Amino acid sequence: MKFFFKTSLLSILDFLFPPVCLVCGEYLNDELFICEDCLKNLELHKNESKSSVSVFSYNDKIKILIHELKYNNRPEIGYILGKEIGKKLIGLLESDNSVLFPIPLHKKRLKKRGYNQSEKICEGLSEIINIPIKKDLLVRRINNISQTKLNALMRMENVKGIFETHSTDLDKNTLILIVDDLITTGATTKEAISELKRNGFLNYFALSVATSSK
Ligand SMILES: [Zn+2]
Repeated sequence: MKFFFKTSLLSILDFLFPPVCLVCGEYLNDELFICEDCLKNLELHKNESKSSVSVFSYNDKIKILIHELKYNNRPEIGYILGKEIGKKLIGLLESDNSVLFPIPLHKKRLKKRGYNQSEKICEGLSEIINIPIKKDLLVRRINNISQTKLNALMRMENVKGIFETHSTDLDKNTLILIVDDLITTGATTKEAISELKRNGFLNYFALSVATSSK
């Protein structure tokens, strides 16, 4: 009954406020939040690093999507972006002996947001490239302040020691694909890598939706 009420309420809302694409504002049919065209037209990022890959160019479209994913209770966007990343990377990532590791949130931030956006990206990604998700590899023991307003040096200081290895049962040769929504200076990723190194893990690679320049 509750479910029926909820679904009929949702269809009334859909009728009054038909869903539109977050990026271009076109009316949507079955798509969730983003129309097919906008998804297809996300620009690919040219990568220069050998230890990380950002799949899409950082532009207004990606900016909107990541903002909605993180601050507007839209976990589905992470899932959709993860699937798109997977489609671009299919065949490039080996699936044997690899795990997807979403950058963890501190439990307080997780409680506030209700989900970890990087984990949602991993869920979409995993479905396409068939690599399992290992989410408890590290925990975030310190709830550091947001990096948004900090410069590169302050960012490095701000993330020092924030991670702690939680699960060590994984083979040390496993390729750990560290997944984050956005990489700016890479301070958080680097901190995660040094914690993994300290615990004897040998192979890692960072994956993100986009790289924003600060
Ligand atoms: Zn659109």
